[in-house]
Amino acid sequence: MGKTIGIVTSGGDAPGMNAAIRAVTRIGHAKGYQVLGFMRGWDGLLTNTYKRLTPRSVGGIIQQGGTILHTLRCPSFEQEGGTEKGAETLSINDIDGLVVIGGDGSFRGALALSQQTDASIIGVPATIDNDVYGTDETVGFDTAVNTAVGAIDKIRDTAISHERIFIVEVMGRKRGFLALEVGLCTGAEVILIPENICTLHDVARIMDENSKKGKRAGIIVAAEGIGSTSQLAADIQSQTESEVRLSILGYAQRGGSPTARSRLLASLFAEKAVDLICQGMSNKAVGLQNGTIAEVDLEMAAKNKKPIDLRLLKTAEMLST
Ligand code: ADP
Repeated sequence: MGKTIGIVTSGGDAPGMNAAIRAVTRIGHAKGYQVLGFMRGWDGLLTNTYKRLTPRSVGGIIQQGGTILHTLRCPSFEQEGGTEKGAETLSINDIDGLVVIGGDGSFRGALALSQQTDASIIGVPATIDNDVYGTDETVGFDTAVNTAVGAIDKIRDTAISHERIFIVEVMGRKRGFLALEVGLCTGAEVILIPENICTLHDVARIMDENSKKGKRAGIIVAAEGIGSTSQLAADIQSQTESEVRLSILGYAQRGGSPTARSRLLASLFAEKAVDLICQGMSNKAVGLQNGTIAEVDLEMAAKNKKPIDLRLLKTAEMLST
């Protein structure tokens, strides 16, 4: 048997996962590995379901969103015997290294699996939430930011025409990285994120001040994790003269062709991941740190909470006056 690398995409899909699959496959092959792509996240390891990936079979996917390996939230992997079964599948297929492409939940799964196997387990951070510790950016984040910015630019046209306030809900159940960057890039008057609870009184005050300055339209970007945005719309409506509308961007933010930046990050992360497997390193993740592709301890990445720069909320406020 030759040397073998496995790939799994897990958790929420992110644009650029296919670019990462392609790059692991092609660089892996160039370094003498055969590559197996496990299907449907951790479920592929529980059921030993995979497809053989070759440089040719991953052709034409760099520009496709989603993941050709599919993904699944797989609670049985967390249950008793799940990671042991996953380790057995790695052993049956003589896997030297497994590249786990996903978010922080997938990294916790990868860490649990790494405790059951001698194979190199390497994490590649890919999520539109950008909430993985140890990397300045995750694969897919830039694409989701650009998708949301494009949608909000359109919403602002109608907001200005009708002199309305729009609340735009973007994804982010637990963290506000996406909402913060989208808010900054669209000139949002208010940005609401789970890490910084803002009172209704504060929001109404900002909108009132804007109105007095002659700014009668406004955009409030809210992460889904702040609570009910429809309730928020009703509450703001009751406190202001302007009409308030709600627009939930939803799943469109998860799909679409990855931006050049998401493709580049996916490709460079994948190259580093294969490199770490070649060196026999285990329990690592890759990440972007100050513009450099770096290796990160998998346990650190899986267990720590990525800090968010709340000063940017102040910057956004000044930029939208
Ligand atoms: P994401 O990677 O996008 O954050 P999830 O939070 O859904 O996505 O996690 C992805 C997968 O990792 C899920 O199938 C989940 O069951 C699995 N997982 C998370 N934590 C563990 C763990 N401690 N042990 C085993 N599997 C885990």
